[in-house]
Amino acid sequence: MKKILVTGGCGFLGSHLCEKLLKRKSFVFCVDNLFTGDKDNISHIIGNKNFRFIKKDINKGINLQVDEIFNLACPASPIHYQYDPVETIKTNVQGTINILNLAKKCGSKVFQASTSEVYGDPVLHPQKENYWGNVNPIGLRSCYDEGKRCAETLFFDYFRQHKIKIKVARIFNTFGPRMHVNDGRVVSNFVVQALKNEDITIYGKGNQTRSFCYVDDMIEGIINFFYSSNKITGPMNLGNIQECSMKNLAEEIIFLTQSKSKIIFKKLPSDDPKKRKPDISYALKTIKWEPKTSLREGLLKTISYFKKAI
Ligand code: NAD
Ligand code: UDP
Repeated sequence: MKKILVTGGCGFLGSHLCEKLLKRKSFVFCVDNLFTGDKDNISHIIGNKNFRFIKKDINKGINLQVDEIFNLACPASPIHYQYDPVETIKTNVQGTINILNLAKKCGSKVFQASTSEVYGDPVLHPQKENYWGNVNPIGLRSCYDEGKRCAETLFFDYFRQHKIKIKVARIFNTFGPRMHVNDGRVVSNFVVQALKNEDITIYGKGNQTRSFCYVDDMIEGIINFFYSSNKITGPMNLGNIQECSMKNLAEEIIFLTQSKSKIIFKKLPSDDPKKRKPDISYALKTIKWEPKTSLREGLLKTISYFKKAI
């Protein structure tokens, strides 16, 4: 049986990925320091004989024998990655070096959860993989954006220098069940606020856009990509092309929850990207993947989850 390491496996995406990999008859090691992750996210698989949770910080090094690695460890919400920015960079640089050294030692294929944030506040729209981005190197978001850019550099240097098998995906905004109630990202904030009939907090005027992908589609994309030919290294955009302004998102969530919430406007955080939408033609062509779930369908499933979680 194949042994797979998932770092960040107690987080939102990581827990869904562990679940899917177990269904593919693999042994899964889930390594997480529980900074933003929660053991509740893996409570339904913790008893599985092919699953083992190890509480560990990837920055401190890992010694396991594994065939495949998915590196997802890193806080993903701006409030969480800005809480201790130095630790965020360390996770993306020192943590990534530790993971790549493990892959080199074991001869394992390794996946990196990179991000659309590598494009920063993009000038090119929609974003294609060959766009180099527009990133502030010294701003509040830089610990994450530049950290993830450096992680990509490390992946491609290990690929060229040490011939390891790599897969780098640039994940665009993803949402769904198991996002933390206090995650701070926009979908969980708006849904929780709407369900509690509290004010919905739009940052800025609400005309900034994002393109939201439902979690099941994203996990399918990650798995299709990982198990495609080793020649397909990426970086590959994974995301939904349905673009939406934050104002429209707030209105849709109020409508779907039949909420009495009012929209209020708060200060826009610095360096907040004005628009974001993936060009996914590379994924469509090489791994025959595109998301199937509409924003409304995904939001309805997420709303049902949060009704029980809050
Ligand atoms: P999350 O915060 O729910 O999960 C991250 C997990 O990593 C948590 O369980 C956390 O405890 C763990 N972690 C953080 N630092 C660690 C460390 N040093 N050692 C061990 N574990 C550590 O976030 P998520 O949304 O599930 O994101 C997972 C990955 O996907 C992240 O790398 C993120 O950058 C990337 N990503 C996510 C999105 C998205 O929209 N969800 C978009 C782009 C990229
Ligand atoms: N946002 C908002 N209200 C919130 C949380 C976020 O208007 O309560 C905005 C945020 O400023 C950004 C967009 O929603 O423009 C997406 O934010 P998120 O933190 O989810 O992701 P990211 O900015 O990293 O894409």
